[in-house]
Formats: sequence, C-alpha cells, structure tokens
Amino acid sequence: MGRKDPQLGLVQLTDRAYGYMQKDEGLGWSNAGLIAGKDEALLIDTLFDLPLTRKMLDAIASRVGKPIRRVVNTHHNGDHFWGNQLISDAEIIAHRMFRSEMMKMTPEVSQAVKTAPPDTPTVALLQEALAPFDFSGIELTPPTLVFDKHLTLYIDDREVELIHVGPAHTSTDVIVFFPEEKVLYAGDIIFRLCTPIGWEGTFHHWTLALDRIVELGPTMIVPGHGPLCGLEGAIEMREYLQYVYKEARVCFEREMTEKEAARRIDLGPYAEWTEPERLIFNVARAYREFRGEPHDQPVDFFEMAEVMAEIKRSLCAREMQ
Ligand SMILES: [Zn+2]
Repeated sequence: MGRKDPQLGLVQLTDRAYGYMQKDEGLGWSNAGLIAGKDEALLIDTLFDLPLTRKMLDAIASRVGKPIRRVVNTHHNGDHFWGNQLISDAEIIAHRMFRSEMMKMTPEVSQAVKTAPPDTPTVALLQEALAPFDFSGIELTPPTLVFDKHLTLYIDDREVELIHVGPAHTSTDVIVFFPEEKVLYAGDIIFRLCTPIGWEGTFHHWTLALDRIVELGPTMIVPGHGPLCGLEGAIEMREYLQYVYKEARVCFEREMTEKEAARRIDLGPYAEWTEPERLIFNVARAYREFRGEPHDQPVDFFEMAEVMAEIKRSLCAREMQ
C-alpha cells in the first residue's frame, strides 16, 4: 500500500481514456474521467462546484478538444454531479433513482453550513472540510436519460458499459467500463487509500460490486477518490469492508454502542488511509444491518460528523503523545 506522488489533473491513461484526478484532501475531492472518440467525448462525472468543474472542462478543451455530448454521473452525491449545469446541452445519463435521490443534499445546505457560526466542533469540522468549495450558483441539473441495470453506449464503434451496482455506496451507483482499453471508472465503489463513507446500501452489495469489478478485469481504475490504481484498489477496498464488518459484529455482540465500537476497533493497516474517523459511518451501517434495518434508512450526517469530530480529536491527541 505504498504511496507515491499521485498524478493530478487530466491524465491520459490509454489511447482514448483519461482520468481527471484531484488530490484527496477529504470530503468532496473527487475524481472524474473522459473517453474520447473521433468527434465527441463522454465525460464521467462533474465535480463538487462550478469553479472546479470549469477548470476541468478547460483542461479537456485544451488537451482533448472534442465536444462533450454525453455525461454519465456515477451516483447522486454532489461531488460527482454539482457541475452538470456547465454541460447542459449534453445528454446526462444516470441510474433511474437519481432524480429522486439527488435532493437529499443540496448546495444551499452546504453553503449554509459554510456560513453558520462555528460554535460546535461538528460545524467547525464541516466548515474546514467545505472551505475550499464555492457552492454559489449551482442549479441541480438532473439526468436526461436513465436506466435500471445496464446500458451500452457507443463511442465510434467502441462499447462503453454502464452497470448499476447499487445499493452499495449509494442507491444509484454505476460503474463505467471501457473494455477495449480495459479502463474502469469506479465512482465511489472505490475510495483509494482513503476511508470510505457509505449512504444507502449494504456491505453485501458493496462487496458484490467490488467482485464485479475484479471479474471485469480492468488494468486501470479511476476511483471516486484517491489516486489511480489497478485491481489492487478493488481488492483492498473489499478487504477493508469485510474487516470492519467482522469487527463491528464482535462489538455488536458485546452490546457496545456504535460510538464505542468506532473508538475501539483497531484499524490495523487501514489506519494509514486518510480520514480514518469515517469508520463511524461504516460501523453505523453494519449495526443497521445487524438490527435488520432497511438499506436506505436515512443517515444523519450531522450526528455522524459529531462522532467523527470526537474520534479525530482523540486520534490527534494520541499522535501528539
Ligand atoms: Zn464522492
């Protein structure tokens, strides 16, 4: 799991496939991708705000120069689609549930958090995470073409496979596979060297989604967050989820609360991943499953953030000892 300097910005991966890589600095620092044909390009995801998306589109215009006629959104989290309005004449493609799910978090709420008085550690933590982003002027721009399970697109004569693998990280998770050049865009099914957060979904589906990626056998993967990887990115992600699920089960059986479990679980090799405090999201999800609750039970982000802030403080204190 060694770290070398990641490649950033628009990175050409193969003849026609590109990744748009952002440094993982926590919440919202997502990656995107592009597949270029003779006369047009397919964009995979936009970014968290308009300035970042504009910067990406400028890089694409100057380096690739093909008009973007289609966009695929890998799921409905803002860091993968809040820049959609900048390519509004393109066909926007996503899973069928996207249009109803996308209202769960809005740019207005994010902007309001940024400007609220920082009078609790939770608000302070969120403000620190959101400070680099500018949510003004965002108009939620939904897909114009939706599908249920699987959709094949053509760029020139080459196939691009869109496969719905949710509910894993979210209900609308889609992976994009370009078989001819063995490049896969994983969306947030893969967080690379950073701790995942999940919303609607189950460990079981997330594991199946990762199995599916391994089965497809890409040689290059653009993860939703973190640096470029190969299949090891899918395999390590699967191991993290299985490890946390197993550890959470032990804590659950000992009747510990979610918070106690998140404090107690020793992350071992995964403690090196960025944002280890996100463990609470994964423990809470495991507990929901153990209690037999539905996969789309609403997640109280602010409550989670409160625990994250606490765990972060105790990790910092431990580091300073
Ligand atoms: Zn994301």
